[in-house]
Amino acid sequence: MIIRNRADLRQAKRIVVKVGTSTITYPNYSRNFTRIDHLARELSDLHNRGKEIILVSSGAQAVGVDRLRLPEKPRTIPGKQAVAAVGQGILMHSYEKAFAEYGVTVAQVLLTRMEMRDRHHYINSRNTFMELLKMGVIPIVNENDTVALDDLKIGDNDNMSALVGGLADADLIVILSDIDGYYTANPATHPDAVLVHEVPEITPAVEEAAGDAGSSRGTGGMMTKIQAAKQATSSGISLVIASGTERDAVARILDGEEVGTLFLSGENRLQVRKRWLAFGAGCHGTLVVDDGCVQALRREGSCSILPAGILRVDGDFEAGQTVSIRDGAGKELARGLTHYSSAELHKIKGVKTSQIEQILGAKVCDEVIHRDDLVLL
Ligand code: GLU
Repeated sequence: MIIRNRADLRQAKRIVVKVGTSTITYPNYSRNFTRIDHLARELSDLHNRGKEIILVSSGAQAVGVDRLRLPEKPRTIPGKQAVAAVGQGILMHSYEKAFAEYGVTVAQVLLTRMEMRDRHHYINSRNTFMELLKMGVIPIVNENDTVALDDLKIGDNDNMSALVGGLADADLIVILSDIDGYYTANPATHPDAVLVHEVPEITPAVEEAAGDAGSSRGTGGMMTKIQAAKQATSSGISLVIASGTERDAVARILDGEEVGTLFLSGENRLQVRKRWLAFGAGCHGTLVVDDGCVQALRREGSCSILPAGILRVDGDFEAGQTVSIRDGAGKELARGLTHYSSAELHKIKGVKTSQIEQILGAKVCDEVIHRDDLVLL
C-alpha cells in the first residue's frame, strides 16, 4: 500500500510503534505505569482490530538505573551495558503484565546492527518477526545493549524503529516522543517555531531545522528521528512523529486524524525492494526452473519459487543473496532473494516441500524465494 495522505493511514496494517525512555519513565528514572498501561491498552485494542503491531521500546537503561538506585546513568560502556541488563528484564516484566491484562501475548526481541548487516541474521530475524505476527504476538524490540558495542551498535531506537520497519515490511512507523512532532525550528529555543503536520520530502532544510536537542534520560533527539524518517521513507515506509503523552495517539493516527508530523514516502516498500532487486542488487547465482514454474510466473505475474520447480542451481551463493531465475533455454525471467544457499539448494532441488526438513535437518520455510522477494524482468 502507498500512503499519500492522512486518510490512507487507515489502511496501514503492520505498524511499528516506537516509545522513548522519556515517555515511559519519570525524570527520576522510575517507571511511569500509567503510560505503560495506556500504551498496552491502546496497542492491544489495535491488535484486536486486526492490526499487526511491533513495539520498539527504550527504557532498559533508565529502569536499571532506578532498580540499582544509581544517581544517574553510568557514563562508561560497561556501566551502560550492566544497567541495561538489569533493566531490560524488569521492563519486559512490566509490559508482559500490562499486555496480559488485555489477553495479548508479547515477545522480547533484542537486536543489534549485526542482524541488519549479516544476511543470515537478517533473514533469520525477519522470519522470526513474521512468525510472531502470524501467531498473534506483539514483539517488543530493544537494542541488545549488553552485547552491542561500537560498530555493532545502532545506538538509538529511532533508527532501530526504521530498521525494524524495513526488516518486518511495515506499512507505517509511529515514533512516540516527548515532543508532539517536527517543528520549523527547535521550539525550546525558538518560541515562534510551528508544528509541521506533513513533510512530503526530507530536504537539507528539514534536517537543519531539526537541530539535535534531546532529553538526558533517552538517547535520541529530533535529529535521530529525522534520520529514522529519512531511512524509513527511502525504503518505502511512511513515518509519524507524535507525542507519547497524547491519549490514544497511535489509534487516532490510524483513524486519519492530524496528530503529529507525517513524513510521506511516496512509494511502498514492495516497489522499492523490487526496484532494488531488478536494478540495484548484484546477482550471485542462477536457478533454472521447470516449465510449470515458468508458466506460473508468466500467468500470475509473480509467484513463489518452491524446491520442486528447480531443475538446476548455478553459482555459489548464501541465503539472503539475489539470484537470477532462468528457463531451460537460459532466458532470464526474474530475480529474487533466496532463503537457501546454493549448497542447500543442490540437496533440495526437485523435492517436495515436505521433504526439506528431513534432507537439511531444519526448514527455514517452504519457499526458496517468496513472491514478495521476486521481481519479474
Ligand atoms: N536501548 C536503550 C535503552 O533501552 C535506549 C536507546 C534509546 O533511548 O534510543 O535504554
